[in-house]
Amino acid sequence: MVQEIDLSIKPEFVQNYKDGYPLISKKSILNWDKLKEEGTILNLLDDKGKFVLKAYHGVQNKGYGWALTTDKDTRINQDFFSTKIKSALEYRKDFDANKDTTAWRVFNGEGDGVGGLCIDYFDGYYMLTWYSLGIYEFKSEILEALKNNVAYKGIYQKKRFDSKGKYLDDEDDFVCGERAPQPLIIKESGSNFAIYLDDGAMVGVFLDQREVREAIRENYAKGKTVLNTFSYTGAFSVFAALGGSTKTTSVDLAKRSYSKTKEQFLVNNIDVLKQDIVVEDIFNYFKFAIKKKYLFDLVILDPPSFARSKKHTFSASKDYVNLLKEAIKVTSKGGTLVASTNSANFNMMTFSDFIAKAFKESNTRYKVKERFSLPKDFRVCKHFKEGDYLKVVFIEKIR
Ligand code: SAH
Repeated sequence: MVQEIDLSIKPEFVQNYKDGYPLISKKSILNWDKLKEEGTILNLLDDKGKFVLKAYHGVQNKGYGWALTTDKDTRINQDFFSTKIKSALEYRKDFDANKDTTAWRVFNGEGDGVGGLCIDYFDGYYMLTWYSLGIYEFKSEILEALKNNVAYKGIYQKKRFDSKGKYLDDEDDFVCGERAPQPLIIKESGSNFAIYLDDGAMVGVFLDQREVREAIRENYAKGKTVLNTFSYTGAFSVFAALGGSTKTTSVDLAKRSYSKTKEQFLVNNIDVLKQDIVVEDIFNYFKFAIKKKYLFDLVILDPPSFARSKKHTFSASKDYVNLLKEAIKVTSKGGTLVASTNSANFNMMTFSDFIAKAFKESNTRYKVKERFSLPKDFRVCKHFKEGDYLKVVFIEKIR
């Protein structure tokens, strides 16, 4: 039984919610202590007791819940989720027709009207990601709504929450239908990826970088030496190799990245022996490469927004300038740096300032060639700018 409760918005926050801001904060609510369970439906009222919006309570690192509708008579049930999923599918119709890409995001949280829920498609299989216990309380309604709207081979899920807001790794992620092969080979812009739907927190590829990978393969890799830092499963290296790079070097601290990267090369018929895969802290690797006077024509930087290694703590907002300065040293004149970040803590303008600062302090001139943000399937809510997190800048190092 879904619980419902009326809560009052503090006067100074009413307009913000009326304007469409979807994330519910604790500090904006007057009588928050009345609330107990995640998954409760909140009817938020203004200071005169007039209905403003319906939301649900779910705890994420971002906030305490998400707006669902401004219509007070709408019931939050299977039909509600079905309508949302239908319009999400409609919005991405052109992806169905494209046989060269068989994986994309089907439902992107607040961008599709339900914060805390994402659904990805991998060649016949669907992956639901639950970002809070609150949204997980609606699992059966959402699952039925999805099943009624799509043809599927199988459905998987990932729970990205626990008492500490971390990922639960010990569970079987399979939900229903048939199990996917391990690996499942999906296509992206005509190239292959080996995907594991039931293998820890991540499946092996970040779909939001699709357009960046394609740009690297089509326009930046031919005849170039490539350094791919924070390489994970080597997705950028694979696309560079397919685009005709002379050699790729992939560097990641995680041991599993070696076999994972090798596998991605193999499923694309790339000669692994011609590529370097280095398991090392990137900041050590930079030291080594600078000492050896290595230079690369294309250097890709795609760090996590926050990471802790044995020797370093890296935070994109604090350390991106330094990361760029190291990378500039190992980039050849006329070469290209790809600076990427998924940090929601700063916007493209600040990121551009980081780039300007790094080049200035390196006494080096540069030119921005191209910029990328999230692709169409990672739909963003226009009232929630933080959701538009991806920033990628292609930069030419002039001298
Ligand atoms: N660029 C990748 C995704 C990067 S995910 C892609 O396109 O798929 C972030 C990766 O950074 C993780 O694999 C993590 O192991 C790695 N990492 C974190 N800190 C690191 C460090 N100090 N040196 C090298 N790799 C690091």
